[in-house]
Amino acid sequence: MSERARAVWNLWRMDSEIQQVESRITQLTSQLGDQVKVKAGDIAIRRAKDSVAQALSRQRDREFELAQLEARIKELDTRLWSGKGSPRELEMLRVELDRERSRRNGIEEQTLGVMEATERTQRDLVRVESAVATALASLQAGNIQRVAERTSATSRRDALTADRLSLVEGMPPEDAEAYNRQRVKSSDGVPVAELSGSQCQGCRTDIPSGDAQRARRAEAPFPCPSCGRLLFIPNA
Ligand SMILES: [Zn+2]
Repeated sequence: MSERARAVWNLWRMDSEIQQVESRITQLTSQLGDQVKVKAGDIAIRRAKDSVAQALSRQRDREFELAQLEARIKELDTRLWSGKGSPRELEMLRVELDRERSRRNGIEEQTLGVMEATERTQRDLVRVESAVATALASLQAGNIQRVAERTSATSRRDALTADRLSLVEGMPPEDAEAYNRQRVKSSDGVPVAELSGSQCQGCRTDIPSGDAQRARRAEAPFPCPSCGRLLFIPNA
């Protein structure tokens, strides 16, 4: 079983979980009552989450910049203390070190600023989520639990979607394309199938033994010659 075939199988496991979570979200959404209010709440929460993500990204940029500068300062410091070089070279090193140190002070202040901004956006998100939950809870009994379940389902969906994206980015594009094509083509929307012995578990057809061997050895995901689903061979 090649890495590539395994990646395709993992992609399907993610996609089927995403489908399950999505349909649970849809179900809970319809049970919440006033759909206009639900939608408005979703938009408010999405905006608050976007602000958190933006603030976190700015914070990471600053932290990265700071770490690079720290490394540079350490390097200059080591060279200066080694005492190697002419007095003029050492003097230039000292000037550069002073300059980098004062630059660090500036970036440290900026970093603190963006960290505070991140915390502020996180507090805003909590406040928005709780305001939305309160508004939806007042619509009908049982909504408190529904909102809580829907919030965690949404986070799960978002996390899976992010994992899916990085999995696809690591796959050869032709594998992702073969997967997507087969997902549309399959009658049940399932683009993969297990190969058990020489039988495809997707269409229950026995495939020629030469193909079964090729499926086991191939680098690229191997399609069932009968139904086209990409074959997965467990424990191989
Ligand atoms: Zn098949």
